[in-house]
Amino acid sequence: MINSSVLVLNRSFLPVHVTPLKRALCMMVQGIAKAIDEEYQTFDFQNWAELSVAKHHESVGMVDRVIRVPRVVLLSVYDRLPKRCVRFSRLNIMTRDNYTCQYCGKRGPKSDLNLDHVVPRVLGGGTSWDNVVTSCLDCNRMKGGRTPAQAKMHLARKPYRPNIAPLMELMQRRMFHEAWKPFFNIVDLSYWTVELDSD
Ligand SMILES: [Zn+2]
Repeated sequence: MINSSVLVLNRSFLPVHVTPLKRALCMMVQGIAKAIDEEYQTFDFQNWAELSVAKHHESVGMVDRVIRVPRVVLLSVYDRLPKRCVRFSRLNIMTRDNYTCQYCGKRGPKSDLNLDHVVPRVLGGGTSWDNVVTSCLDCNRMKGGRTPAQAKMHLARKPYRPNIAPLMELMQRRMFHEAWKPFFNIVDLSYWTVELDSD
């Protein structure tokens, strides 16, 4: 339970981060964050700790008491804005592709994967979200300096420029709590729209 995750909102109630429960409780104790309950009331640590713990509440044992698990906390000291830009980077491309070779479907650790220019650079293909995919080393070698059609290899899906930060997307998929939902509904998704530099 102590390792489960808590959504962190900035002072404008925008989700900025997901943090382990332990860290969220620390932030509350330090006065950096306040817990938010299902009625959007905010509580500092002291007040939160005094709330009664009902059977249906998730709870966590502290040194001298059992307290409710906050699922959402609000930063009270500084406004950190969500990252707006997803860098066009190796890591982010692999994250977009779920660490899966886009030709044969093999999943790999980073060390077994490479980036492939769908249309090779020598044939005028750009280094951009829509022309670079994750590829295993074997497929990369097999394809060589050819287009997928020339190499008779098929892409699992057309590469795209993500309009939601891929890390954000992953984060939501991996561990999304019901209590977080209202805060994502109020986020204008265009807020997450990424602007990227490519060549
Ligand atoms: Zn492959």
